[in-house]
Amino acid sequence: MKTVCIIGGGFSGTITALQLLRKSTDIKIILVNSGYPVFKGVAFSTKKQEHLLNVPAGRMSAFPDKPDHFVNWLLTQPEFKDEAFENLKKEFIPRSFYGDYLKEISSICLNHPQVSIIHDKALNIEKAHDKYLITIDNHPGIQCEYVVLAMGNYSPAPPKGIDEAVLRSSHYFESPWSDSYLEGLKPTENILLMGSGLSMIDCVLSLISLKFTGKIYSISPRGYFPQGNITTPVTYPDFYSEVKDKSLLEVFRIIKNHITEGKKNAMAWQAIIDSFRPYAKETWLRLSAKDKRQFISHLRHIWGVARHRLPTGIDLKMKDLIESGQLEVFGGRLQFVAIVENGFEVSVKKRSDQQLETFFVSRIVNCTGPQINFNEINDVFIGNLLQNNIISANDLKMGIRCFPDGRVLNKEGEHVKNVYAVGSLLREVLWETTAVPELRVNAENVANQIVESIN
Ligand SMILES: Cc1cc2nc3c(=O)[nH]c(=O)nc-3n(C[C@H](O)[C@H](O)[C@H](O)COP(=O)(O)OP(=O)(O)OC[C@H]3O[C@@H](n4cnc5c(N)ncnc54)[C@H](O)[C@@H]3O)c2cc1C
Repeated sequence: MKTVCIIGGGFSGTITALQLLRKSTDIKIILVNSGYPVFKGVAFSTKKQEHLLNVPAGRMSAFPDKPDHFVNWLLTQPEFKDEAFENLKKEFIPRSFYGDYLKEISSICLNHPQVSIIHDKALNIEKAHDKYLITIDNHPGIQCEYVVLAMGNYSPAPPKGIDEAVLRSSHYFESPWSDSYLEGLKPTENILLMGSGLSMIDCVLSLISLKFTGKIYSISPRGYFPQGNITTPVTYPDFYSEVKDKSLLEVFRIIKNHITEGKKNAMAWQAIIDSFRPYAKETWLRLSAKDKRQFISHLRHIWGVARHRLPTGIDLKMKDLIESGQLEVFGGRLQFVAIVENGFEVSVKKRSDQQLETFFVSRIVNCTGPQINFNEINDVFIGNLLQNNIISANDLKMGIRCFPDGRVLNKEGEHVKNVYAVGSLLREVLWETTAVPELRVNAENVANQIVESIN
């Protein structure tokens, strides 16, 4: 019996394991996970009810071939049993429920004769003839024929403009995904959230739920702020045939024209983005290398704001906080951060008027998004995989080099036999590979390839 070792037991690794189990009774699966809780990973292990899914429940099934699986599961829960199916599909549910869903559907792995789970960190992978040797912390290590890399989200890179002493300070928090920044925080202190994306919003929601009344600053280079979804989803006609063979700039011009036209007919821009979104991957795949670089430099953030939106209602909460002055969002660059008693003095050059703004905060939380440049990730496992040429970083500095179907490439551009990647590691090749609707497809594709290769 062949062995598949999956490194990382968040959504991507777990669903790959479940898909393998569905497709073959003749495979041994070893799931290696440490860091975040197995099955739930970073996104779905939060217990905070104010942390909502940013995708409606109707699009969150773990399985591509069972689109209503999550909504049907919700209907079995006491909290949702009286809700109408069609309404529930449109709702943004607390992420903790999604974590419970993943735990329940994965419980089959716990006592399954084909599955072992190791709760420790993988440290290295070495090729040994036709097998791979996986070194694992506190563990004798394992041998396997197939490897699936599903390590998911790494903590954000240190923000530019902050020196080592600040990064080592107990008042600086390198990740927004653990609650440590909330511990011992007095309700009237001020706090700086570096970044203005969805993780920053999670932090604001956590602070407010704890009756925090201090000032919350958020800084990002352009000051873009997440936008809300529309209350009543509407559909916009499919216009992909217009953009199909076009260059990046033409694609953006066509989308902009549709938004302008849509506005004239009171059509929300969100509907136009949602109409194009299923084709984002195809569009990305055929863009030239030059266009891809242009997109990363100039358009990535605009697309991010248009695409990663706030659940309905949260946008209004944020608007109130901004209007009351409790939340202040700057577009600008850090000029300096100085360590002072009980916190930091922070100075920012504002993008709007190039003026310096200086303020004091007791804590800084890095919410700048996962580190995706694999040459800069500070992790022993990644360092070893790069050194052993099992993975290679790519020119766009996003994820690792892979084929779109998940086969991993070494630095010579050759497929590393029987090594696959799922999830955000595929960013460079697929671009849109961050949320469940894409990850469940990655996981199934990789499981199919492994099963086919074994048969
Ligand atoms: C805060 C947040 C909220 C999100 N909300 C949504 C949402 O509402 N809807 C949606 O569709 N998507 C959401 N996403 C996107 C989300 O990333 C994915 O949906 C999904 O959770 C990613 O799963 P993953 O398994 O790829 O990665 P992860 O969840 O990061 O899991 C990877 C696991 O591998 C472990 N690991 C890493 N390296 C090793 C190693 N060397 N050895 C052993 N274990 C290792 C990690 O510690 C972790 O447990 C959100 C993301 C974040 C960060």
